[in-house]
Amino acid sequence: MPPLSNPLSPHSVAGLSPGDRVAVNPSRWCGVCAWCREGRENLCENIYFMGSASKTPHMQGGFASSFDAVPAQCLRIPDTLPFEAAALAEPLAVCLHAVARAGDVTGRRVVLFGAGPIGLLTMLAARRKGAAELTMVDIAAAPLAFARNLGADRVIDLSGGDDELRALAASGAFDVAFEISGTPAGLASAIASVRRGGTVVQVGNLPGGAIPTPSNAVMAKEIDLKGTFRFGQEFAEAVQLIATGDVDVLKLVTARRTLEEAPEAFRLALDRSQSVKVVLTAG
Ligand SMILES: [Zn+2]
Repeated sequence: MPPLSNPLSPHSVAGLSPGDRVAVNPSRWCGVCAWCREGRENLCENIYFMGSASKTPHMQGGFASSFDAVPAQCLRIPDTLPFEAAALAEPLAVCLHAVARAGDVTGRRVVLFGAGPIGLLTMLAARRKGAAELTMVDIAAAPLAFARNLGADRVIDLSGGDDELRALAASGAFDVAFEISGTPAGLASAIASVRRGGTVVQVGNLPGGAIPTPSNAVMAKEIDLKGTFRFGQEFAEAVQLIATGDVDVLKLVTARRTLEEAPEAFRLALDRSQSVKVVLTAG
């Protein structure tokens, strides 16, 4: 899989031929703004992101039989790699970026709030980056069972109370917390759970506007509270990890549906008791 000659340039073409099998990076960054030149392409002020309505005109997503992509968005994948695995490069890239934002997690004890697909992939990414212990927290049994099968060292179901989480937090059991549920309660739990001097990374989409947050603990515990947004060069890393099998993303695929079955696929994907990742296929 040859690297792109200049991954910052949306106009570079590196060995792509008609018929090549590719993974498509939904990010189309400009390559010339201050953020791009700093290597923080996800913060590009001119970015277009497939499926995003954050800019006008909106950019269409990939649920279509054909769409346009510039060459720099296309990374060749091996003939043997299923498209449905390559399609998960985007969420894995999100999670690799989130883990990178936490700094070096080697030997760290990590707690994750939210066992959805992003939570599960963040867990796998943290493991890949050397985390020593992974604790998954959620309020639903099925996703937690899935996390356990996927390699979580400990799962905590908060629907049964938070005594265990509180006791672990009091003993300083967590160096790094990832808030992935996108809920104010999740952020409050992450801040309360991480040890003094620890790191909290906000991965989930919180509600817009002001939310109550135990902010004083950020000061008093000297917590590094960090945001993470999409991904930059991690997309290529995600494709590489999937292609080599180092991260087995297909374990997250719980159902496959055709484009014609898309409405049912979305209903299924919303049911956390039945599904993790639902893949739409072209045929
Ligand atoms: Zn830019």
